[in-house]
Amino acid sequence: MPAIEVSDLRKSYGSLKAVDGISFSVEQGEIFSLLGPNGAGKTTTVEILEGLRQRDGGNVKVMDMDPWKDGYTLHKRIGVIPQGFRFFDKSTPTEAINYYASLFDVETDPEKILNEVILSDSKNVLFENLSGGQKQKLGLALALVNNPELLFLDEPTTGLDPQARRAMWDVIRALKKQGRSILLTTHYLEEAELLADKVAIMTKGKIIAAGSPQELINKYGSPKKMVTVSDSLEDIFVKLVGARMEEAGDIKAS
Ligand code: ATP
Repeated sequence: MPAIEVSDLRKSYGSLKAVDGISFSVEQGEIFSLLGPNGAGKTTTVEILEGLRQRDGGNVKVMDMDPWKDGYTLHKRIGVIPQGFRFFDKSTPTEAINYYASLFDVETDPEKILNEVILSDSKNVLFENLSGGQKQKLGLALALVNNPELLFLDEPTTGLDPQARRAMWDVIRALKKQGRSILLTTHYLEEAELLADKVAIMTKGKIIAAGSPQELINKYGSPKKMVTVSDSLEDIFVKLVGARMEEAGDIKAS
């Protein structure tokens, strides 16, 4: 049984088709990345899979459950870092973990979880004094409190400096080694390439290319060639969307 199965998923906000008929599956134990620019529909997709948003159409199974109908059971088995994670400014990581454990009604060892995300050195530092990277690591720590089989990480490294981003990548790799399945959304091609077993490139509500990072690079060229000056994905999307338009003729480039 795949960890996630999505078939012809659709969601509109008024006349805007935020998710326009996408299909993909995430196998157990793999890292699957939804890669796309702002407004592509990644968060909408993730929120539907987490049971936070109702879909308009299509089929979705998360660990064999319908996230909208079986949300209560599902939430005990998944871990989530929402985009732009924040916590109470005056709490420490240790307090935050104990608080989450009480919400989930589970026994937990804050020290062990903080070690896993390499944050034990800051266990007594107030949230407001943590660096951006440390705050994101705390988000990850809280997502682990219920020992989830499946993690949803929505842009976990956006806004982090390169060193903090690499530190998050190490933690995410270690979580995969423990056998957890991970759905990761990102703007960064390099991140998807380094971490993901499979990548789906999403823009304007549609998946325009999917496969292993190597398959995508073989098909569309090396990311180093395609993304030159900065981390911006503008160039790669223009190329990918252009290529797909020629193939399918059904996606409009901006
Ligand atoms: P980002 O990388 O900026 O987070 P995203 O790929 O996660 O983008 P979504 O947040 O899913 O994209 O947004 C997809 C589209 O739907 C965007 O055009 C956004 O403005 C719109 N949208 C998202 N949520 C709502 C909402 N609650 N009401 C109306 N429009 C929305």
